[in-house]
Amino acid sequence: MQSKDLLQLAEQFGSPIYVYDAEKIKSQYNRLTKAFSKVEKLRINYAMKALSNIAILQLLKEMGSGLDTVSIQEVLLGLHAGYDPEKIFYTPNGVSLEEIEEVHAMGVQINIDNLSILEQFGAKHPNVPVCIRINPHVMAGGNTNISVGHIDSKFGISIHQLPHLVRIVENTKMNIVGIHMHTGSDILDIEVFLYAAEILFDAAKNFKNLEFLDFGSGFKVPYKKDDIETDIEELGKKLSKRFNAFCTEYGKELTLIFEPGKFLVSEAGSFLVKVNVIKQTTSTVFAGVDSGFNHLIRPMLYGSQHHIENISNPKGKERFYSVVGYICETDTFANNRRISEIKEGDILSFRNAGAYCYSMASNYNSRYKPAEVLWMNGEGHLIRAHETFEDLLKNQIPLPITTATA
Ligand SMILES: *Cc1c(COP(=O)(O)O)cnc(C)c1O
Repeated sequence: MQSKDLLQLAEQFGSPIYVYDAEKIKSQYNRLTKAFSKVEKLRINYAMKALSNIAILQLLKEMGSGLDTVSIQEVLLGLHAGYDPEKIFYTPNGVSLEEIEEVHAMGVQINIDNLSILEQFGAKHPNVPVCIRINPHVMAGGNTNISVGHIDSKFGISIHQLPHLVRIVENTKMNIVGIHMHTGSDILDIEVFLYAAEILFDAAKNFKNLEFLDFGSGFKVPYKKDDIETDIEELGKKLSKRFNAFCTEYGKELTLIFEPGKFLVSEAGSFLVKVNVIKQTTSTVFAGVDSGFNHLIRPMLYGSQHHIENISNPKGKERFYSVVGYICETDTFANNRRISEIKEGDILSFRNAGAYCYSMASNYNSRYKPAEVLWMNGEGHLIRAHETFEDLLKNQIPLPITTATA
């Protein structure tokens, strides 16, 4: 979709808004399945924490995707969007045994990532098909908050505890049907991925009833022109070959699973904001916009650099701006960025706003969360309305005092 379409949507629906391009989501999905077309049984489980609007879940369901969920509420949203429980995976971390049992009772595939819960669950439900999350301790990922495979990470069962793991499985007679790893986001080097895969293959040999191997996600997407990204096609070629060889060795055609979030939805999203004020100081020109980290926290949380374009004046002369929000706390989206000349009232577009943007939005400063629009077949469809004052009051219970001055 083009900048003029975005501008038109900002006029039609108001700002700030999130816009998602359905075609881009579809093309990313198709790109991934094509890269692994040599694998007989491939399954993509969309990691819905990236962007959990029901319309997005429906769109991916139409494409044939399953879901990867990390909470019982995500499971409920997935079921609500029409997914069969068999198409939903549950990969939580640090949740209670009760929640895991509840999700299992819904018919969803559970994935266990610690020995304590594995032992407790196995003792109570010996025959249930269970997947286990291994931590291969491969250092990968961009920001340390999203790098989850390293030695100190809280995620997964350490590969060094494999003997203990096998003992628990034998003692409880558990039915281990899958092995999983997810080493973090923003993996640049596919050799790192392939190295971790070898560790998974090695671990897999300890289990006789496997049906699938789940390689998680972590594909890096480009954030600006000429940015590096995971070479999916190359990874597809190399990993497919290795996976197929492993299946022959194992004596069974296993399913290969990926659970991408960012890869499917990041580039499809644009976040549109209006410039409220231009403030010229002695050192900087600030463009203050009608948003803040309440709507898009990634630059402040992860140091991520979202490309920003002035879609009201795309051909203007470029100047340096610091783009800041309206939150009463420092919320800098971009420092001294070259952007075509900005006037008050212009609409700025943030790229790569599909993943971990709306899903991390809050009501901080008692602001409303933005609306969401899906661009499909040349038309904008409102898939979440702007919030209203009622949303801020919902679930709040005032004291039974009649006057504020009492
Ligand atoms: C967050 C997460 C993903 C998705 O990661 P992306 O970098 O968005 O692709 C996949 N699997 C698990 C278990 C996750 O927690």
